[in-house]
Amino acid sequence: MGYQDWVQSYEKSQDQTITDRRHLHQYPELSFEETKTKQYILSQLRTMGYADIIDIPAGGLVVVIGGKKPGPVIALRADYDALAITEEVDVAFKSVNEGVMHACGHDGHTASLLGVARALVSDQDALNGTLKLIFQHAEELPPGGAVDILKSGVLDDVDFIYGIHLRGDWQYDGSLQVCSGYAMAASDLFEITIQGKGGHGASPHETYDPTVAGAFLITQLQTLISRNKDPLKAGVLTTAIFQSKSMTANIIADSAFLKGTVRTFDPELRNLMQTRIQTMAESVAQGFGCSATVSYTRGYPALYNHPEQTELVAALFEGNVTRTQPRMGGEDFAYYLEKIPGSFFFVKAGRHEKNYPHHHPKFEVDERSLDVSVLSFLKIIDYYLGKEDQGYGA
Ligand SMILES: [Zn+2]
Ligand SMILES: [Zn+2]
Repeated sequence: MGYQDWVQSYEKSQDQTITDRRHLHQYPELSFEETKTKQYILSQLRTMGYADIIDIPAGGLVVVIGGKKPGPVIALRADYDALAITEEVDVAFKSVNEGVMHACGHDGHTASLLGVARALVSDQDALNGTLKLIFQHAEELPPGGAVDILKSGVLDDVDFIYGIHLRGDWQYDGSLQVCSGYAMAASDLFEITIQGKGGHGASPHETYDPTVAGAFLITQLQTLISRNKDPLKAGVLTTAIFQSKSMTANIIADSAFLKGTVRTFDPELRNLMQTRIQTMAESVAQGFGCSATVSYTRGYPALYNHPEQTELVAALFEGNVTRTQPRMGGEDFAYYLEKIPGSFFFVKAGRHEKNYPHHHPKFEVDERSLDVSVLSFLKIIDYYLGKEDQGYGA
């Protein structure tokens, strides 16, 4: 038993991996609503012969494999939710669920992990340790499915965890990308309502104009990045929405509304941004005779790839790995890595030379990237569980 045997049995069932991916792609479901997707995964796992499947009521499935022999407990994760996007890719397995699309590649993640399960099914008892395959709901929508999986306690004994993301915006070439340390940002949301006193546009002296206060606040918020943030730490603040309540050219509104996003890696910087936005909004509004209420919602934390486990992935795929820069996007795999050492890495999966980004209606992946995903997981499994217990879990 071992890597080569698993690759052989994967290759025998390779067509089914493509069938799985295309089925999931054709019937996408939104975050926290993935009942049919979960049912499909469950039926595939049962058909393979797996019995030890934990159904997490809040969403998600965890298959427990091996455990007959001593050794570490390893977890691998695939997410399975789709997005509220109308697909514009003309393929035979185009989404039939109006306005819903797998535009982030999660269909490929899940098909790959099913491929891993199929490759191992006849070799379960030979594993030196335990493997937990996590099929996770709702990655795209905070609070995120990862929280439910962690809360269930099913990962309490896990020693190391790994996850992949297909990158449809980077052309497929059979290679992986790793990023050690902070790899993806914490993504938070702020909403500010400025309350003033409305009136006639010809008599501003009789009003407290929240629109002018809001315009001023947008520019002042940028000084949190340029004046309060340590220049050596990454962070960005974007005010994406600015609306006054007025619909008429000569009426000064009663109130104005701002909404935006803050992305950071460093937890202290994240805290600083939250408190400074509050203070800045209140004091700027006050300066204009208005008042401000701020609501700040914390999204996923920054994703921290543990250096030792990331270097392991790099070593296992030597010659087929490049290093990538951290990105400001968010990912709920960050929650797992807060509790369990591991790494989240990327598979180049773009179908064309020029690819559309994730969450785009024309997003596509090259299905050969599924093989790379499966093989990378199998190599990691082989490293930890393919040999007699080497004390990895100690
Ligand atoms: Zn996404
Ligand atoms: Zn994603």
